[in-house]
Amino acid sequence: MNNSDQDLWNRVRERLKSNVGDDIFNSWFARMELEAAEGDTVRLSVPTRFLKSWVQSHYAERLLACWQEELSTITRIELTVRSAVLKPLPPKAKAPEAVAPASDKREIKAGIELPRAAAPISAVHDALGGSPLDPRLTFESFVVGRSNTLAHAAAKQVAQGRRGDAVMFNPLYIHAGVGLGKTHLLQSIAWAGNATAERKVLYLTAEKFMYGFVAALRAQNALAFKEALRAIDVLVIDDLQFLQGKATQGEFCHTLNALIDSGRQVVIAADRPPSELETLDERVRSRLAGGLVVEMGSLGEELRCEILKARVTAAKLHHPGFDVPASVLIYIAKTVTHNGRDLEGALNRLLAHSKLTGQPVTLEMAEREIRDLIRPQEPKRIKIEEIQRIVARQYNVSRADLLSSRRTANVVRPRQVAMYLAKQLTLRSLPEIGRRFGGRDHTTVLHAVRKIENLVNTDTSLAEEIEILKRQLQD
Ligand code: ADP
Ligand code: MG
Repeated sequence: MNNSDQDLWNRVRERLKSNVGDDIFNSWFARMELEAAEGDTVRLSVPTRFLKSWVQSHYAERLLACWQEELSTITRIELTVRSAVLKPLPPKAKAPEAVAPASDKREIKAGIELPRAAAPISAVHDALGGSPLDPRLTFESFVVGRSNTLAHAAAKQVAQGRRGDAVMFNPLYIHAGVGLGKTHLLQSIAWAGNATAERKVLYLTAEKFMYGFVAALRAQNALAFKEALRAIDVLVIDDLQFLQGKATQGEFCHTLNALIDSGRQVVIAADRPPSELETLDERVRSRLAGGLVVEMGSLGEELRCEILKARVTAAKLHHPGFDVPASVLIYIAKTVTHNGRDLEGALNRLLAHSKLTGQPVTLEMAEREIRDLIRPQEPKRIKIEEIQRIVARQYNVSRADLLSSRRTANVVRPRQVAMYLAKQLTLRSLPEIGRRFGGRDHTTVLHAVRKIENLVNTDTSLAEEIEILKRQLQD
């Protein structure tokens, strides 16, 4: 293969990257290599069979299209698996990434430096190379407020642990809606751990865990993968709600048990509490619920304002001319209530606008620029337990009555109302609602929902009762 082929391949890679986005590119194409380009055929290789089959089934057409845009004579892509024989790396062949100088932080992966004893196997190393860390997401830049005090304190505690310390709560499970700082806290833990090199902290998204595991399995290194995973001190898994698949779950369960039982710390974040991770089986859920479960609430106005201030201070370091008057900060904090991401987005707009126009930031400009970020309050996340509690109180029955199999009229109606509200006000599925109402079948739930739907059309006092219940739940 000559240089011009390699140049060509580089251009194709760029096309691919802008076509599928950085995340997807890094997950599936980063390790793809050009073997040969001959006539109408391009031969590419990937390190595992899993990657090959994934790319073939999901990206074959786009890959070909990107090639054709560079070289129209290409009509065929052949994908092969590189070096079926995995060679152990010579010990110390790779400098551990974690000791890169601090100025290079951007490049540091949360990845572990593999055990000195066992010779690392490249596929395993790759599989375990953690998800990338964002250098901005550290404890220093995390603003503590009422809604996240506990989560922050727990995360700090975990981050300060030393190898061999007794683990206080395991796993630490943090849940919150989108943009409320879960990833920020988790990555702070990973940065803190890596900074001291005292313990090995591995930060993985659930997707990366799945992908790493499956890839290692396909490469028939499941054993080595497990051992490497077990050689870490702190495992941090983000967005657990995305963990899917029976095999992965089984493996996740084993890993969790192995780590916890051997006194290693596990930290998990998800968008919902363990009990609501519907795709996970009961054993995993109860193990997850067995540690410390902390919820982070929505960002209060004061906290939003503090976050904005911190952001402006950080931005000024790189853009000395940039400033945002207090009135504008307050305006944003009051109106952009959605989540931390939109706060960041709002400031970025102001920054871009003032840079491009050379104008200082004013309230008028802010009002114009961020209009579309102002959304109506996101509906509160309502929990099924909360619905049961409020309905039980309203009808003067106990929550246990609602969950029981009693069929007397004074219990049946409230139970139906509660199921109806659960369907209307939460995103839970019918089977899930059934499960949460004392293990009822989904058809029972459906029946209750239909029944109440019909009744509210004719029975105005019931309709009113339901309105009142809804209002209580939504405040
Ligand atoms: P999640 O993972 O919960 O969806 P992120 O951690 O990605 O949310 O947070 C979204 C954005 O809001 C990030 O830019 C993050 O830095 C910022 N953010 C959220 N909470 C805080 C906080 N308490 N202090 C500083 N920044 C925060
Ligand atoms: Mg996140």
